[in-house]
Amino acid sequence: MTFGVMFHHFHSHVHKKGQGSISKNELKKIVISLKKKYILNNADDYVKKILKKKITYKDICLTFDDGLKCQIDIALPILKEFKIKAFFFVYNGAFKNNPDNLEIFRYFRNTKYQNIKFFYQDFFKHMKLFFINDFLKYKKKFTNKYLNQYKFYSIEDRQYRFCRDKILSKDSYETLMFKLMKKKKFNYKLATKKLFMNRTDIKKLIKEKHIIGLHSSTHPVNLPNLLYKDQMREYKNNMLFIKKFTKSRPLSMSHPFGRYNKNTLKILKNIGIKIGFLSYKKKKISSLLEIPRLDHVELIQKLR
Ligand SMILES: [Zn+2]
Repeated sequence: MTFGVMFHHFHSHVHKKGQGSISKNELKKIVISLKKKYILNNADDYVKKILKKKITYKDICLTFDDGLKCQIDIALPILKEFKIKAFFFVYNGAFKNNPDNLEIFRYFRNTKYQNIKFFYQDFFKHMKLFFINDFLKYKKKFTNKYLNQYKFYSIEDRQYRFCRDKILSKDSYETLMFKLMKKKKFNYKLATKKLFMNRTDIKKLIKEKHIIGLHSSTHPVNLPNLLYKDQMREYKNNMLFIKKFTKSRPLSMSHPFGRYNKNTLKILKNIGIKIGFLSYKKKKISSLLEIPRLDHVELIQKLR
């Protein structure tokens, strides 16, 4: 069955290694191995094929989420070398002075702790200290099934994500993270600048014929929990933002965290989105707005 390959983080001497990040050479390895087994389509050809119903199980494409600077610095030259045009799914916040803290928090936990286990220890210690009720609720409610479709997550990864996404309110979670950042003397502003693409980078992507697609406006953790009108605002604002650069209507998108509901699909259809990507594998494609993706972390584990 057709799928997209989903990329997020890359590391080099400039971009620090983090959980799930890969190097330039690992990206090359992935591309070479995919080309042996599949038809690696340019993004625009992939859209054409899928709309004409000419897509086969061998047709795949490359996708990059979240507007990350490391994609420009590390992945873009490789795409150029292999002459591949990819999808880049971006959210507005990443280009403003107030990006979603999600990425900053990730950077923080990957750079300020010797390894991720120390971060998790610190996180749960402080959660117990400052949010005891939430901590007890987590202890009672967490099950091993949570996020078990992502095979490469460790048990600690899932426990942490469970607290972040299901137990703590956005405010409590951010308060907790900012407490940890203060303790570790983390430079928030500098991190923002290092992590995200800027407007010149988007223009460069467009000039090199990559496709820019939607990924919401603020990258909410649980988009399907939002009211219809709020979901609509997420995607409409995102579309307006992208149109300013591309001067044409975007046709593609990827769901933040792979999360959506019936309303989301209705909204996307209404604003003219033709193809959408999930962030996980699925046996059957229910609609063109739900195309599965394979995470680069899974691919590289098989190649390492
Ligand atoms: Zn995302």
